[in-house]
Amino acid sequence: MTDLATRLEAVVGPKGLRRDAEVDLLDPGWHPENLRARLLVAPASTEDVAEVVRIAAEVGAALVPQGGRTGLVGGTRTCEDQIVLSTHRLDRILRLDPNERVAVVEAGVTLEALQTAAAAYGLEPGIDIAARGSATIGGMVSTNAGGILAFRNGVMRHRVLGLEAILPDGSRLGDLTRIVKNNTGYDVKQLLIGAEGTLGFVTRIAVRLDPMPRTRVTALFGLPSTAAALDLLRQALGDGRLDLRAAEVMWADFARATAAANGISDSAIDLSHPVQLLLEAGGPAEAPLTEAFEDLYAALIEEGLEIGGVIAHSERQRDEIWRLREDTGAIYRLYPAAPSYDVSIPATEIDGWLARFAADLAAYDPTLGFFSFGHLGDGNLHVILKRPGPLPEGEETAIDDIVYGDIGRLGGAFSAEHGIGSKRRAALATHADPGKLALVRLLKASLDPKGIMNPGKVVSTP
Ligand SMILES: Cc1cc2nc3c(=O)[nH]c(=O)nc-3n(C[C@H](O)[C@H](O)[C@H](O)COP(=O)(O)OP(=O)(O)OC[C@H]3O[C@@H](n4cnc5c(N)ncnc54)[C@H](O)[C@@H]3O)c2cc1C
Repeated sequence: MTDLATRLEAVVGPKGLRRDAEVDLLDPGWHPENLRARLLVAPASTEDVAEVVRIAAEVGAALVPQGGRTGLVGGTRTCEDQIVLSTHRLDRILRLDPNERVAVVEAGVTLEALQTAAAAYGLEPGIDIAARGSATIGGMVSTNAGGILAFRNGVMRHRVLGLEAILPDGSRLGDLTRIVKNNTGYDVKQLLIGAEGTLGFVTRIAVRLDPMPRTRVTALFGLPSTAAALDLLRQALGDGRLDLRAAEVMWADFARATAAANGISDSAIDLSHPVQLLLEAGGPAEAPLTEAFEDLYAALIEEGLEIGGVIAHSERQRDEIWRLREDTGAIYRLYPAAPSYDVSIPATEIDGWLARFAADLAAYDPTLGFFSFGHLGDGNLHVILKRPGPLPEGEETAIDDIVYGDIGRLGGAFSAEHGIGSKRRAALATHADPGKLALVRLLKASLDPKGIMNPGKVVSTP
């Protein structure tokens, strides 16, 4: 390792290399094993990345790409003999053109940095996640991140116009176009999007930008059931006055736990209802949006439903509503490393799936409760069990079967936006379509025959 470190330091310079105790000084992020590696290399240019990867390929050293280390499926876990390949020195916004409405960034730029730079021109990247302060564009490309705006703008894949990456043999894939239409043969950059660092290292990305609305109005509706939440969402989506930008759902236990953690009292927001639906809309002026939300509220009352509601009238109140939804850390403080799931269910199946899941889980273990919340607009539900993790192996498989058993038949996905990483490898082997899995293995073996890029994640090179 010492010889290898010296060779790598010659490429990236002393600022680009950390060993042993210097690695321990860094924040490991969202998985405790992210920084078990004793060597971290941070190149500052595409050329240096290529040289680092060539050297690693030559000696067969394993590289684990890392951005903000906010990934939730153990995609950045390392062992002592692996090398972290970090993007933290690839942090420049190279181009941001308001006429093209495109930004070209290095992979280590955080989402928040891009949002701030784009906002100066009244633009936004059209994708948003709660980890925005640390998550990098390279990490979001590699996990094909989804988030809050996905139901209207698509996932990261749909925001990427061009991409540059270094492949596992050190060669460069250059496809950094800044246009929407590009049918110049196979769209191979798509292979790198959602590959979780197993097929190459993303160095630069061209991201499309959209105009930001002048104003936003946020409302929280307390509702009697999941069916009522789906019905309200359908009405809001069909209301021509509302350009919806968020449709986030929280079931009661989740909202009460995040409220308690944030000191939000019942008198500030009524959380007595079984389901809370957070809707946010954008537009040129506040008054028509507020009026549209008030009309939806009045219509529900007229139907005879028992509901609650608040429309945020200040930035402070808006922040409070969003903290209810985004402070998932509060749940993990209650149940450290709690087992969690991230599934996609078609809209018409959500209510039935939740009822079936709750009944099967209770039959398996009546003492085991769960928190649930998610992005209702695209059917992406997050479930966190009310117990600290990890689960013993046999129990993990049994609960995986309860969560995922009918998802394929319903037309959903057993991993919606977080990916496979190391955490969902067993689920991939059991629940993925065999034809798809065979092709995934073939691609991995062809592009990374030595298995140096993020080994042990998604699939392995045979
Ligand atoms: C509070 C919180 C909220 C979240 N909300 C959402 C959400 O709403 N939607 C969502 O989709 N995700 C969400 N996530 C998950 C996470 O933020 C995303 O997966 C994000 O895309 C990861 O970015 P990162 O820079 O932290 O990547 P990392 O965690 O560093 O890496 C993630 C994966 O990408 C690979 N990788 C990183 N950079 C590169 C690169 N340059 N080239 C190749 N591979 C690379 C890594 O090897 C790893 O497999 C959330 C996480 C947290 C902690």
